[in-house]
Amino acid sequence: MNLIFLGPPGAGKGTQAKALEERFGYRQISTGDILRANVREGSPLGVEAKDYMDRGALVPDELIIRMMEPVLDEPGDVILDGFPRTVAQAEALDDLLRRKNKPAIAVLFDVDKAALTDRLTGRWTHSASGRTYHVRHNPPQTAGVDDVTGEPLIQRPDDQEETIRTRLAVYEDQTSPLIAYYAHPANHRLARVDALAPIDAVTAQLTKLVTGGFGKDGAA
Ligand code: ADP
Ligand code: ADP
Repeated sequence: MNLIFLGPPGAGKGTQAKALEERFGYRQISTGDILRANVREGSPLGVEAKDYMDRGALVPDELIIRMMEPVLDEPGDVILDGFPRTVAQAEALDDLLRRKNKPAIAVLFDVDKAALTDRLTGRWTHSASGRTYHVRHNPPQTAGVDDVTGEPLIQRPDDQEETIRTRLAVYEDQTSPLIAYYAHPANHRLARVDALAPIDAVTAQLTKLVTGGFGKDGAA
């Protein structure tokens, strides 16, 4: 079963996607990571996307949808992390999944808004892999250094308070309507996890969901 991770910036989607990738062999598809790689390489997509990302705005739907189509062609179950972010993207995704015959369920990361700014201002990122740490909640073994590669960690330029405020407002306006979209009785494809819990406890909830076969309880 393919998973669509839904939740505000800082909810823990990337952290959990990496944990499930390791545990169950899912392939994490983070649109943010793909876009940041394009910005680093200076590709035409990166050049177009950079200004939106710097401001904390969403990159236009048509660019994102075009970017995602070939990515979804590859085999294996995926975790979509950061996509879709608008109803237009969700409708395009439904179409793609139907055409490629891939079933999916959305998982909402339920989290208190008050926790998010602390999570994002304390986030340290390994650019090449997208691995993240937190200065207090999940520190690396050596401060400022990625555990796996030993390479330096960075603070993302959009993880500063002013841009965080914009990103959270953009989430409320443009992405949170997807909760109703996926919870609609005709779709009935929404599960929830308590994302305020510690990292391991959230992984345990997701493990239960993934290994429980997504029965009625999980997808209520
Ligand atoms: P998202 O991908 O949803 O934006 P991340 O997975 O990057 O969120 O997590 C944001 C920050 O919060 C990171 O610094 C991460 O280490 C930390 N974090 C993730 N999950 C938790 C949690 N359950 N409790 C405390 N901190 C967390
Ligand atoms: P976070 O993990 O903090 O939620 P992401 O890494 O997912 O942030 O996204 C960073 C930025 O990349 C967003 O603020 C936005 O500019 C852009 N972006 C990522 N995914 C999408 C998407 N599906 N649609 C539009 N813009 C996106």
